[in-house]
Amino acid sequence: MSTFIDRLFNHRVKSINQEFSVENEHPDFFSYLLGLGTESARLLILKSKIESFQFPEEPYLKNLCILQFYLDLERYLLINDSRFISTEEQLRAEIKLKFPEHGNSDAFAPLYRQGKAQEICLAQLYILIILKKFRDEDPDRKATQIRIEELTKKLHKTPSNQTLVEQISLFISIKEESLAVHKEFGQIFGQDFVDSVFAETQSDFNIYFERIDAVSCISDVIPQLFSSLLRENNTSTLSFPNVTEERSDLPIEPEKPVIINQDDVLENLLDGYLLFDEHGTILQCNTLGAKIFELSKEELLKRDIFELFPEYVSQTIRQDIARLYENSKKSVIGRRIEIDLIAKNGKKETYEVSASNNYTAPVESFTLLLRNISKRKDTLKARISAEKAAEAKSTFLSNMSHEIRTPLNVILGLSEIISKHGIEDPEILQKNIEGISFSAKNLLSIVNDILDFSKIEAGKLSLQSIDFNLREVVYNLANGFEIKAREKGLSLSAHIDEVIPNVVVGDQFRLNQILTNLIGNAIKFTHQGSISLKVGLDSETDEELRLNFKVKDTGIGIPEEKIQTIFDSFYQVESPENAKINGTGLGLAITKELINLKKGTLTASSEVGKGSEFCFNVSFKKSKLKNLDNTSRPNLAKNKSLEGLKVLVAEDNKMNQFYIKQLLSSLGVEADIAENGEQAVKIHQSGKVDYDLILMDMHMPVMNGLEAIASIRQSNKDAIKKVPIVACSADVFPESRKKAINAGIDFYLTKPLKEEALKEVLFWLVDEDKNSEPEVVQEKSPSGSDITQQSKSVDIAHLLDIFDNDKKFVIALLEVFIQETPDDLKSLRKCVEQEYYLQASTTAHKMKSSFMNLGMTRHGYHLQQIESLIKDSSKVTEAKKHLKTFEDLYTQALTEVNVKLIELKTKNK
Ligand code: ADP
Repeated sequence: MSTFIDRLFNHRVKSINQEFSVENEHPDFFSYLLGLGTESARLLILKSKIESFQFPEEPYLKNLCILQFYLDLERYLLINDSRFISTEEQLRAEIKLKFPEHGNSDAFAPLYRQGKAQEICLAQLYILIILKKFRDEDPDRKATQIRIEELTKKLHKTPSNQTLVEQISLFISIKEESLAVHKEFGQIFGQDFVDSVFAETQSDFNIYFERIDAVSCISDVIPQLFSSLLRENNTSTLSFPNVTEERSDLPIEPEKPVIINQDDVLENLLDGYLLFDEHGTILQCNTLGAKIFELSKEELLKRDIFELFPEYVSQTIRQDIARLYENSKKSVIGRRIEIDLIAKNGKKETYEVSASNNYTAPVESFTLLLRNISKRKDTLKARISAEKAAEAKSTFLSNMSHEIRTPLNVILGLSEIISKHGIEDPEILQKNIEGISFSAKNLLSIVNDILDFSKIEAGKLSLQSIDFNLREVVYNLANGFEIKAREKGLSLSAHIDEVIPNVVVGDQFRLNQILTNLIGNAIKFTHQGSISLKVGLDSETDEELRLNFKVKDTGIGIPEEKIQTIFDSFYQVESPENAKINGTGLGLAITKELINLKKGTLTASSEVGKGSEFCFNVSFKKSKLKNLDNTSRPNLAKNKSLEGLKVLVAEDNKMNQFYIKQLLSSLGVEADIAENGEQAVKIHQSGKVDYDLILMDMHMPVMNGLEAIASIRQSNKDAIKKVPIVACSADVFPESRKKAINAGIDFYLTKPLKEEALKEVLFWLVDEDKNSEPEVVQEKSPSGSDITQQSKSVDIAHLLDIFDNDKKFVIALLEVFIQETPDDLKSLRKCVEQEYYLQASTTAHKMKSSFMNLGMTRHGYHLQQIESLIKDSSKVTEAKKHLKTFEDLYTQALTEVNVKLIELKTKNK
């Protein structure tokens, strides 16, 4: 809404001395309108804008400004706050009655006309305003003033109750009037000046009357546009007053009658035209009218009107005819409405239909004009959505700065307390640290929301498909939220139907995110009572389960008219009750989008004061695993010690350096810091310390992570180039992962680094236990697969998910695999046979990434073992066992990758 008003503000009007305020100039009018709405932030903004707006001195412009504000308020009230007003007609009728000085003004006149009459009214007003501008330009020349007076009077004479043909001929005569004015005053003031007045007035009209569709008719009366056409058509019969060279005493030409042939007028009308009687029989039409219905004129005249329109329109026309003389509101006749007609080729076109009763005709008859407005509507839609987006963005920015500042302020405040006094008292220290941690997590979730949202907007969000324990996810979540609910005195329960299996295949993180949003909202908007989560089975096939999730609360509820809007981005229901509740208005928009991605639907039902229920259903694939209980998995690697590991941390951010160092030292790991990529390469290449791992930040000054990795991997010393490298980056976009993989990383961890994820990588590094398998890591290996769920096969769908559906990239990965691994294996075998063990270790290292990149972590695991064991003469036999197992797995993998590659390539076509 602000955009219209802002435009009005920016609109250049002659300078203003007089201050306007709702109180002193139009006290009743605007106060009355503002009083019709409930006090809300938007209405207050509007009010203050009106109050501080300096209205132009020019009375006609002032009236137009008042009209513009009126239309803004009218729209606001009808759309957002229709407590007292249900239709625009009703409000306008009231204005006429209560505020006749506005209601009867020239500016407001078009609001009270329909169809052609509205066009006539606007066109007349257009010429009148142009004449006023001419009068102001030369107030002292008497002859000009007399001529203007005369033309003005003539334009004001509009008989009411005209027939359509009379209206059309009047419109034509206004066109002529306009042409005459254009020519006549062009000779007085110069054509350029007159052209500019016409154009400027048209743009004023487009602004002030933009809510009135008929404003487009102004282009029909602009002489610059139509005079050339008239000339081409040789319409010499049209009469214009002669203008003599002597401007001072212009002779007033007697009016010549314009002779118009009715049929010609109707035939050449830019609208489709139909005339029908009270039984719906079509009595007359023009060619365009017939063409709209894809019929010839003869065919159309055999039809009746009710056959042509969709049932609801025909029905309403029938009712209107039956109640013609009753004082009831007509829905089609006497109005301008929009309807959609479907053409034979299935294309939908939108028409503006204006239907009127020909009261003066001897028999009851009705005129119907149809104008195709599909294009205009598209432009309007685009403009409205652009305006909505702009409005939403500014709301978003103000919400965001609040949302982000709040936790940041807490973090800063608490850190200051700690640095000043906290250290002495362990209790205060602990409390403050908890506060910092809570706020930081909060901040992270806001940033994640924004990232998710931007990914959704860019169509870049993809879902994973992995086995997970549904019961565990749901009950863990409910347990977590129960504490929060209890703090507010609410109870929370969760129930999953027994028929649903424990393990399903899908994206547990996104499911968690959806439920977190819904349960979080339920707690946020409930002050007493309970919250329940229920999961039921909708349907089941051999492969799939369709589950429904219901989150129900006994909270403040959502008004019926707002229930659809809450799913819009950045939307928050405006009410005093939730004014103090924080939020970004993004949660539900993201939730809905995530559910849509899973081909599910999210619906909401609610009653104000009673509570709300959010339901969604999504499908999960059935799992082939019998049970999956993360908590009961043996954790062999974790029993091993990380003590003595040496890690080089390349990180430029001091806080991060501090955090990672603390984290590593708490695990007994030694860490050295490099301030940037170049330093990291230097330290590592110096060979002073034999690092077990390099943690490489991707964004660093001097030399970034990618360059540093490339430099390390290009070294000709094995000990230097084979060091495992873990990329750490806040960048969650697949593109960055791809680049890191290409550079030769072993793992990719997203920032902020989670202790668990880092630990898992380290444990995996030290795990040389032949029987053990690496443990679950929340983070992904470069390929994106979970390190622990060791996989023997390549999951294409998952690879596509991870790489943002970039088929080309996935195909390239598979091709490199097929081309290189057979030769690599040959060379690995040969090296082992001939006891070139160091060379064998290098080859195993190289092969490892080919398998890891495709998510074949089991192969990767055996290669890793070969790589590290074979260098140690006492462990060669062990390494050979791994080689044997690897070879057994390899043939199958190669065949499988080949098949998948062919499938992918054919699907790609
Ligand atoms: P946020 O909660 O961050 O404001 P959401 O998109 O999650 O954004 O919700 C949008 C709006 O929908 C909320 O501001 C609130 O007005 C309304 N809403 C959502 N869930 C509920 C609920 N359970 N009860 C009442 N109102 C709700």
